[in-house]
Amino acid sequence: MNTNEKPSALIIIFGATGDLANRKLFPSLYRLFEKGNLSEKFAVIGVARRPLSNEQFQQNIKNSVQSSAQEQALVDEFATHFYYHSHDVTDSASYASLKKMAEDLDSHYQLDGNRIFYLAMAPEFFGTIAIHLKEDGLTMVDGFKRLVIEKPFGHDLESAKALNKQIRKAFSENEIYRIDHYLGKEMVQNIEVIRFANALFEPLWNNRYISNIQVTSSETLGVEERGRYYEKSGALRDMVQNHMFQMVALLAMEPPIKLTTDEIRSEKGRVLKALRPIEGNKVNEYFIRGQYGAGDLNGKTLLGYREEQMVDPRSNTETYVAGKLMIDNFRWAGVPFYIRTGKRLSTKSTKIVIQFKDIPMNLYYQTEQALQPNLLVIHIQPEEGITLHLNAKKAGQSLNATPIKLNFANKGINGLNTPEAYEKLLDDCMHGDATNFTHWDEVALSWSFVDKISAVWENTKEENFPNYPAGSKGPKAADELLEKDGFFWWPMADLEVETC
Ligand code: NAD
Repeated sequence: MNTNEKPSALIIIFGATGDLANRKLFPSLYRLFEKGNLSEKFAVIGVARRPLSNEQFQQNIKNSVQSSAQEQALVDEFATHFYYHSHDVTDSASYASLKKMAEDLDSHYQLDGNRIFYLAMAPEFFGTIAIHLKEDGLTMVDGFKRLVIEKPFGHDLESAKALNKQIRKAFSENEIYRIDHYLGKEMVQNIEVIRFANALFEPLWNNRYISNIQVTSSETLGVEERGRYYEKSGALRDMVQNHMFQMVALLAMEPPIKLTTDEIRSEKGRVLKALRPIEGNKVNEYFIRGQYGAGDLNGKTLLGYREEQMVDPRSNTETYVAGKLMIDNFRWAGVPFYIRTGKRLSTKSTKIVIQFKDIPMNLYYQTEQALQPNLLVIHIQPEEGITLHLNAKKAGQSLNATPIKLNFANKGINGLNTPEAYEKLLDDCMHGDATNFTHWDEVALSWSFVDKISAVWENTKEENFPNYPAGSKGPKAADELLEKDGFFWWPMADLEVETC
């Protein structure tokens, strides 16, 4: 399909009364509608267990999109495209009436048999739904059929393989859109452009000029009401296996020969293949884990992880991970990629710092402060932008070198909020563009790396937990991980993008 063409499709959202659907999916679809990116030829069936009439469901849709809407008439028109099907996904009988509803809407809206099945539900249902969709004839269509599947994709390699096997019975690999919403973020997509559209960076993007790369994703929130899920997941599975590895793959991949889905995914996969496996007694040398204890942030007293709802008071689950990844290929041999992610930290921030090597000889040796290395900082969220840290002479001074920053702030320049990740991903899926979704090979490779770490951590109780207070910068061990290589984490406060 021409990417400028407006796609027509029936979108069936499983889990339509849930948090994800209400907070992200409906508002994102609305923004696409408002911008004219959705044709009149679309309809949505919301599927969930509780009984609701179409009118009640449409009212839910209006409530969910109201805050971002400009015009009431448009909201009303948008909501008319939504229909509800009360349905227990484990109950075979419900699929026949869902099929009938889908066929009626297909002909009413002239949708050409195009269907998107969005599984916004707990992962234990993914396989069951996919198999029912095939066996009960919902995937027998004249148009395209696509399955959008939320994270987590499995719990480890074995369970991911089992899930993949189930969904592959009903959908081919190129019909499966595995969501990693980081890939929908404006600045994550920008990593590729910064790298491959600038003659300035690409020649330097290797172990001759880069000393280390740091990827940080820190949250101020705790585990909230997701204790039951998080106890089984922890930060390693919840963040590292997917989002952190995807950012590393985009930073480290070779230039693709073309910007096609297959070429980009294949280059990312090669990075994951080149990751040095860390196992056994090497795990605690390359990776450290943390768990937050009680603390305070902005004057608010916060509970420790073990005191949170649905959490074992002796829990061994990590809420923080820092690690050193080595990519054993020609481009990256010897360059550590440090990653860290955690909950209940002092700042909410996702940033990438590329630290260049020092110049061979410092002519400005006698300046007051040591010459700072050049840094390229990519601000992913909440600020979006790029900062280049250079050294220059400031007017009026003697020939001393002073650190300066060149800033590009996305929001400051465009004056508009950039599109939500889900908006872009839904749009991509409607257009059949799977580039910003994860391929099975990437999922399998990242699980096989992460499983070796979990194998050690799950079998050894961390006696020091909790090892960082809520509202702090994380465990001391994360700093020591870099110190032993002669590096340090660049302080978040020094990296802020300046928006004026
Ligand atoms: P949720 O618990 O809020 O919603 C679950 C939905 O599934 C509800 O609509 C519920 O009615 C429906 N449901 C449950 N059992 C059912 C059954 N047997 N038959 C039919 N419907 C049933 O969950 P959520 O937070 O919306 O998350 C959904 C998925 O998205 C999960 O896989 C989650 O990991 C993932 N996810 C959520 C977010 C988020 O921001 N909420 C972010 C990333 C990923």
